[in-house]
Amino acid sequence: MTDFPQGTVWLVGAGPGDPDLLTLKAERLIRSGTLIFHDALVGPDVLSLASPDAQLVYVGKRSGRHSQDQEAIDQMIVAAALEGERVVRLKGGDPAIFGRATEELEACRVAGIQVSICPGITAASAAAASLGASLTLRGHARKLIFLTAHARAGEMLDLDWHTLADPEATLAIYMGKAAACDLSQQLIAAGLSGDTPVAMVENASLPDERVFHSRLDLLGLASKLALGHGPALLLIGKAMAIAAPASLEPSPARSVHSIE
Ligand code: SAH
Repeated sequence: MTDFPQGTVWLVGAGPGDPDLLTLKAERLIRSGTLIFHDALVGPDVLSLASPDAQLVYVGKRSGRHSQDQEAIDQMIVAAALEGERVVRLKGGDPAIFGRATEELEACRVAGIQVSICPGITAASAAAASLGASLTLRGHARKLIFLTAHARAGEMLDLDWHTLADPEATLAIYMGKAAACDLSQQLIAAGLSGDTPVAMVENASLPDERVFHSRLDLLGLASKLALGHGPALLLIGKAMAIAAPASLEPSPARSVHSIE
């Protein structure tokens, strides 16, 4: 049984959206939290698991969160725990992947508050499932690189393009929509072939999930034309060549497109 005394904090992975993809532990923690801080990636179906007596506090901002906001969240979590709440900090996907978990862990530890992590299914795993594909490919995609391509407004992406332009790697790119064109150009300039397969998955695991296949040299255009406002994961690499739609689980709302 998961230990959740008063005055402690759990950073809980809410997974990619589908409540069926929560872990049993996450569900138990959400049900027993008295104060739940959640952000934009956590949907109503997951939040509805909370106790009717629990207080839900929205602390989200989809992108471009300033560190000032993050400090305010850290302080709210600490204050709630000091007041004796059972605090759930609910984060989309896995809290330990591009989730600002370090700041929150640190703030709790400095204040002497017990804090723990419950892992969740990250967007890259959900996207692979939507594609019906493996992220790795024996002998061809031996590495899986998780990266965020979120650049501050007006700034160029500062990434190690030489390392990323690896034909034996699969790149799983979070927050990459705005930078798709830049990503495509820089990876090609660093030596990755323009016909490297690319997949884009928007709203992975949710009813309005959409899946697109394209190639690296068309990524900028494809993402602009195809993607809407939902969160989207970009996947680049040979492993995406054999990605087929998840046709074993038909769902009329789901759509698959090819942009070539
Ligand atoms: N901690 C999260 C990632 C947070 S960063 C995780 O482990 O998944 C936010 C980015 O994650 C989004 O910009 C998008 O790139 C990706 N993402 C999150 N949920 C997604 C979903 N359901 N479908 C596609 N991409 C998603």
